[in-house]
Amino acid sequence: MIPLLSLDGVSRIYRQRRGLLGRGVPLRAVDDISLSVAPGLTLGVVGESGCGKSTTGRLALGLETPDSGRVTFRGAVMPPPDGAEWRSQRRHLQLVPQDPLGALDRRLTVAAQIAEPLLIHGIGNRGEREDRLAALLNDVGLRADQAARYPHELSGGQRQRAVLARALATSPALLVCDEPVSALDVSIQAQVINMLTDLQAARGIAMIFISHDLKVVRQVSHEVAVMYLGRVVEQGDPDAIFADPLHPYARALVSAIPVPGPRRLPRIVLSGDPPNPADRPAGCAFHPRCSLATAQCRVEEPGLIARADGRRVACHRADELARASA
Ligand code: SF4
Repeated sequence: MIPLLSLDGVSRIYRQRRGLLGRGVPLRAVDDISLSVAPGLTLGVVGESGCGKSTTGRLALGLETPDSGRVTFRGAVMPPPDGAEWRSQRRHLQLVPQDPLGALDRRLTVAAQIAEPLLIHGIGNRGEREDRLAALLNDVGLRADQAARYPHELSGGQRQRAVLARALATSPALLVCDEPVSALDVSIQAQVINMLTDLQAARGIAMIFISHDLKVVRQVSHEVAVMYLGRVVEQGDPDAIFADPLHPYARALVSAIPVPGPRRLPRIVLSGDPPNPADRPAGCAFHPRCSLATAQCRVEEPGLIARADGRRVACHRADELARASA
């Protein structure tokens, strides 16, 4: 299927200042990643905090410009942020943020904020905007009297519904959902996820779903990319990855998902935190935490290699692991 949005060989490098007068040290937040998402489908992006998944989302939205590589939307290179071309394209690409209270303006009613993108993009006349607002409230399960309130007067689940309605207002082709339910109770999470996937299916919206919660990612994704220290280390079909992950980092993440009954994978506890991206280990960046690391892993960086089942894995020992689990 022709992708709606692609990131090809994309890197984003920040400068981390050391000391008051120190020169900035390059911090590769995203390092040479290639991902795409097709219309109506969901790409799940998972990894620990600081792995580059939120920066990937910002690159996909065009909020950041890659230092190398390119982002294309509907076949055209993403225009620079804040230009007129980007602003007009923005209606097709919307963000569903993690923190709805932070994303909403406390001084405006929820209804005013849901309708705001229609005004910004000049969509419809007053009557049409009112009709559109009513339809959006209905889509996300908010009543008109709830929308007439201010954000702090709503529950966390209601605020997340409001943020989703605002993101849907311009009928976007792509939603980037950055930890959209991580601040919600588990019971509310399920409601919001079901609503999100129903709306996606009804409207053919593509999604990039960013989360550290693999259980949720598995539920919503058609393809999954596991990121570690700015790079994709395993990518492919969620069923294959969640049933039998090949990269040791992906194995550790999957082994931590709570499951009823006996586990297929023994629980793997990762030691330590991810290294500082400004001080990336030589060879495989995961080697300081990998119980399977060899001398080769300490000096030679593994490439992201396509496998017969369509997955891509960046590990020198992926073949051994595949044979062992066959
Ligand atoms: Fe572990 Fe080596 Fe594979 Fe890296 S390349 S994940 S260190 S086995």
